[in-house]
Amino acid sequence: MSSNADYDDAPVDVLGIGFGPSNLALAIALQEQGLLGSAAGGGGRLRFMERQNQFGWHQGMLLDGARMQISFLKDLATMRSPSSPYTFLHYLQDRGRLVDFINGKTFFPSRIEFHDYLEWAAARFSRVVEYGSEVIGIEPVYTGDVVQEVDVVVQRADGIRRHRARNIVFAAGLQPWIPEGITLSDRIWHSSELLHRLREINVAGIRKALVIGAGQSAAEVTSHLHQVCPNAQVHSVFARFGYSVADDSPFANRIFDPEAVDVHFRAAPDIRQMLRRYHDGTNYSVVDLDLISDLFERSYQEKVVHDQRLHFHNLSRVTRCVQTPAGADVTVHDLVEGHVESMTCDLVVFATGYRPVDPRCFLGPLLEHCQLDAGGRVALARDYRVLTSPRIRSRIFVQGATEDSHGLSSGLLSNVAVRAGEIAESLAEALREQGEPLTAAAR
Ligand SMILES: Cc1cc2nc3c(=O)[nH]c(=O)nc-3n(C[C@H](O)[C@H](O)[C@H](O)COP(=O)(O)OP(=O)(O)OC[C@H]3O[C@@H](n4cnc5c(N)ncnc54)[C@H](O)[C@@H]3O)c2cc1C
Repeated sequence: MSSNADYDDAPVDVLGIGFGPSNLALAIALQEQGLLGSAAGGGGRLRFMERQNQFGWHQGMLLDGARMQISFLKDLATMRSPSSPYTFLHYLQDRGRLVDFINGKTFFPSRIEFHDYLEWAAARFSRVVEYGSEVIGIEPVYTGDVVQEVDVVVQRADGIRRHRARNIVFAAGLQPWIPEGITLSDRIWHSSELLHRLREINVAGIRKALVIGAGQSAAEVTSHLHQVCPNAQVHSVFARFGYSVADDSPFANRIFDPEAVDVHFRAAPDIRQMLRRYHDGTNYSVVDLDLISDLFERSYQEKVVHDQRLHFHNLSRVTRCVQTPAGADVTVHDLVEGHVESMTCDLVVFATGYRPVDPRCFLGPLLEHCQLDAGGRVALARDYRVLTSPRIRSRIFVQGATEDSHGLSSGLLSNVAVRAGEIAESLAEALREQGEPLTAAAR
């Protein structure tokens, strides 16, 4: 084990990995439930490690005009505690826009505004967040043959640091997914980096751009490139017949309710899969109707004036995409006719989605003490705690990567407020079991 000189600060009772909306909601719940009274005041008992240098929520896709796909009432706190000072309505009041927002008569603020809200809330916890700190592993600390604390190994610009903690809340979010065999480059991007990358190039020089995917991000990227690259032919390639509409109708939407988590958790594995199949259309590979209509209308008007810049290659797949000095060579395969088309593109964007970051990658030697489910994932209790052998006294919680056990809301904002409250309660129980708070002297 390393020497104390490697350690940053006193040990903490709770260490959060990642500081996106999930752990931000947890910080709020912990503070509001009085579990960690000094949370926002910089107390030594709660700490979050965040890889980014400052708070940021999917900033590469903060496109002008993009709106939230969820009611503003599903913010960081309202569903658990409508009178919380961290609700979206409190934010609006603080920013002096409450009346204007009400007059706008929408449940769906722009993503840019929601990002501002999240940043506003995050700023209130900045003293317990260490930005620019990427967690690269967790190691058990043995007292005899039990583990009461763990060491969280963190990569920072100035080197490796260790933080000792009693309990961990893992909320590392999503990571971009691209098909096997594709290598990203300065002209082959994943949609998550769109805005950062566009700032680096001369958009007027783009003559041909190609977007892969049929989900919300793919449709948004297609629309955005069509708007900001005035001289570009914009090609959208997807295997579906057409974009499918996101189902946000009231009965289907109940799949995201807090109660749906209980139902999903109790359900047998085949019923869970059935639920996922039935309600995929609420979230996966689907697009808001307004955006579909807008893209169709733009394409139709281009036909009217014989100046087509938008092109949709449905029932098609990209089977090859390689970097060239000027951009990328792409092969598009027509799945029905069998045609193969080669395209030379200035720009290719893979809007092929995300996968949750798998907590197993961080657990290292702790993994052998964790129960696994039939799919080999870490098994979780209803309170999002990793089920471990009794030798592990530290509690490890997972937010986000829990769709299999806790249902479709896992990777979304729908349930962050309520879930944070549930984890905060479980942490309170853990702290009671674990006895006095840790102090530097106790280490
Ligand atoms: C473009 C886009 C738009 C979306 N819009 C909506 C929407 O409108 N409604 C909705 O419900 N959901 C939406 N989502 C889903 C999204 O998952 C949630 O909005 C939300 O981001 C989940 O919060 P999180 O904190 O779990 O994960 P994230 O927001 O991904 O946050 C995880 C954080 O952990 C950090 N991190 C990762 N690994 C490490 C590490 N090793 N060490 C330290 N820090 C680390 C990351 O930098 C990040 O800040 C959207 C997703 C995308 C990609």
